[in-house]
Amino acid sequence: MTMIATKVQAYAAQRADSALAPFNIDRREAGPSDVEIEILYCGVCHSDLHQARNEWHNTIYPCVPGHEIVGRVRRVGSQVTKFKVGDLSAVGCMVDSCRTCPSCRAGLEQYCLSFPTFTYNGQDKHLGGQTFGGYSTGIVVDEAFVLRVPEGLDLAATAPLLCAGITTYSPLRHAKVGPGQKVGIVGLGGLGHMGVKFARAFGAHVVLFTTSPGKVADGLKLGAHEVVVSKDADAMQKHQSSFDFILDAVSAQHDVNAYLNLLKLDGTLTLVGAPEHPLPVSAFNLLLPRRNFNGSAIGGIAETQEMLDFCARHGIVSEIELIPIQKINEAWERLLKQDVRYRFVIDMASLKS
Ligand code: NAP
Ligand code: ZN
Ligand code: ZN
Repeated sequence: MTMIATKVQAYAAQRADSALAPFNIDRREAGPSDVEIEILYCGVCHSDLHQARNEWHNTIYPCVPGHEIVGRVRRVGSQVTKFKVGDLSAVGCMVDSCRTCPSCRAGLEQYCLSFPTFTYNGQDKHLGGQTFGGYSTGIVVDEAFVLRVPEGLDLAATAPLLCAGITTYSPLRHAKVGPGQKVGIVGLGGLGHMGVKFARAFGAHVVLFTTSPGKVADGLKLGAHEVVVSKDADAMQKHQSSFDFILDAVSAQHDVNAYLNLLKLDGTLTLVGAPEHPLPVSAFNLLLPRRNFNGSAIGGIAETQEMLDFCARHGIVSEIELIPIQKINEAWERLLKQDVRYRFVIDMASLKS
């Protein structure tokens, strides 16, 4: 706790009901294994909003959100081997973990038994207090939790891969989604649109479920073979008991039973959305015919690098709307209205004076 710190500019929520506003935070001076990154772009995840507004009932204030970070290396510690000054680099949802438990050893740091250190609202092991995220001009992270940005990707559109990308890539890979399978993606937001792109790239037959009739054309353009407006009971009925796998990326209350019903024998519904309130499940929708319902959180560091490299090989990035940070409160209001096409990304140049 004796490290030297420097101030950087950021945007923070001071309370659950306050707008985000300029705020200066401390960043530690780079230690031997640390990388100091000048943040160029930060994606806007719905989790940022859930957390800042205390919808998960664990927020420590002030809260500086942001875990889809792309930047340039400004300084490296004496023992850093993966990066040099000037390299592009990226940071996702985690900045550390215990590194010794079975999950960490298996490359599943997100399931660290001692809990990973999240990029924001985590416990800062160096400076004390809470960690602060990417709605800021700079960050210092141990190189083990810093990703390489492959050549050839648009940098702003790469930022959302660090959460929306890995959070959909990982469960689709885990379920071994591929040719011959019928796969559903629920909700066309930041996560959902990456889910559609990955499921299509993996070779599955992809069906998008949306509550927004205005997103049907986009869904097809993004790679879905079929788009179903989920409020249309007849259209839903047609897909009864036919899916191998469905990924649910909805940010708010909704009826998961409607999607369990669409799974065939031994099919799986994986939840990645994290709404504030519990989602009731009817027992019989699981029992008949024998269905699975589980969840998935982001992905490990090695798999995140694998995902970035996959994206570079396949030309996959996020569809984004680039905003100055001064528009962040407006962007959050639009997220709540399901009005995002399909990820806001903050151009951090707007915060540098
Ligand atoms: P987002 O961009 O706001 O997208 C959410 C989408 O959900 C909306 O675009 C909308 O799609 C659908 N939706 C919203 N309200 C709905 C409602 N009342 N009923 C039905 N559908 C509704 O959010 P995101 O950034 O993709 O995040 C999605 C969720 O995943 C959030 O809860 C977030 O916290 C969580 N998350 C989890 C992880 C993880 O590790 N598991 C990682 C990141 C985020 P349509 O308009 O197409 O219906
Ligand atoms: Zn996120
Ligand atoms: Zn661990």
